[in-house]
Amino acid sequence: MNQTVEGLIEKLAQEHTLETGELAILLKARDKQAAELLRQSADNVRQRVYGRQIYIRGLIEVSNICKNDCYYCGIRKSNGYCQRYRLTEEEILTCCQEGYDLGFRTFVLQGGEDGYFTDQRLCSLIEEIKKRYAHCAITLSLGERRRESYQRLFDAGADRYLLRHETATKAHYQRLHPPEMSYENRMDCLMALREIGYQVGCGFMVGSPGQTIDHLVADLKFIEAFQPDMCGIGPFISHRDTPFACQKAGTLEMTCYLLSIVRLLAPGVLLPSTTALGTIDPKGREQGILAGANVVMPNLSPSSVGKKYELYDNKLYTGQESAQHLEELKQRMEAIGYEIVTGRGDAKTYRI
Ligand code: SAH
Repeated sequence: MNQTVEGLIEKLAQEHTLETGELAILLKARDKQAAELLRQSADNVRQRVYGRQIYIRGLIEVSNICKNDCYYCGIRKSNGYCQRYRLTEEEILTCCQEGYDLGFRTFVLQGGEDGYFTDQRLCSLIEEIKKRYAHCAITLSLGERRRESYQRLFDAGADRYLLRHETATKAHYQRLHPPEMSYENRMDCLMALREIGYQVGCGFMVGSPGQTIDHLVADLKFIEAFQPDMCGIGPFISHRDTPFACQKAGTLEMTCYLLSIVRLLAPGVLLPSTTALGTIDPKGREQGILAGANVVMPNLSPSSVGKKYELYDNKLYTGQESAQHLEELKQRMEAIGYEIVTGRGDAKTYRI
């Protein structure tokens, strides 16, 4: 690591901003030393905001039926090999109950863009969850919907919405999605969610096909400007039945490097150490936490469907014995000096 890079990391740690050109230098100069310095700086900032606490979210994968055809995604509509499923309202509520008993106080309902989940059905589901667990947070991750729809779901009680921007570069967005999907619509959705009052999450994949350093810099500048409440970053991993079947995966090292930078650009952000990171490396989740992440999202989906929500090959699925898994996760976090806490785990404001 040369002095310039060290200086950039210091500036980032103190001022929480870097110019476009500076970020490009930082990304191009990535080596072990720079990664370690970034990691330590991110860890310091995270500890000032969140201490050593790690928040947990119970992920419920409600449906793998999807009208979209994203080139990278295993549940895209053109994948005829995907065994489709949809959880019933009853099954979703059972997942919530199991999660609640384990200590989860945030439920994340994620799924493909499945027309079955109309506003009416979702609103009654959200209201029922809120009735049963008034002090729990509901996070939705159900893709692009109309503004009015987001508003209705919010009014019904949804607190947060995760919608990764996927990439902040229009040309790269087009490389990853079919022509009927648009970068503008994705961004408009994020803005609408924020205006409505959701806690909003954006994010992107690391190492998606055709991704360049400039694309990553654009993602980082977008995150710095948008200051999301949450940010999902994980490596791209190919799925055998997609157009990107033969593309290589993003790396643990680059993902952790970016997690550290994001922690410094948006100190109070809720930053998950993602399932994808745990999939490419057995210690991936721990590495993500050490790099600055402060959230983990164990799967609460029933074991009968857990394997079917296959966004990419060999997706980690540890839900079968949730209680045992959570215990193991607690121990793994304790082993690296962190503590899993229950509670809603809202974002904290960072004051310099
Ligand atoms: N339909 C919802 C949820 C999508 S799945 C939505 O559109 O937001 C959640 C995230 O998984 C996606 O946003 C994408 O970034 C990630 N993902 C999909 N396919 C992936 C792959 N092959 N490798 C890694 N991450 C992937």
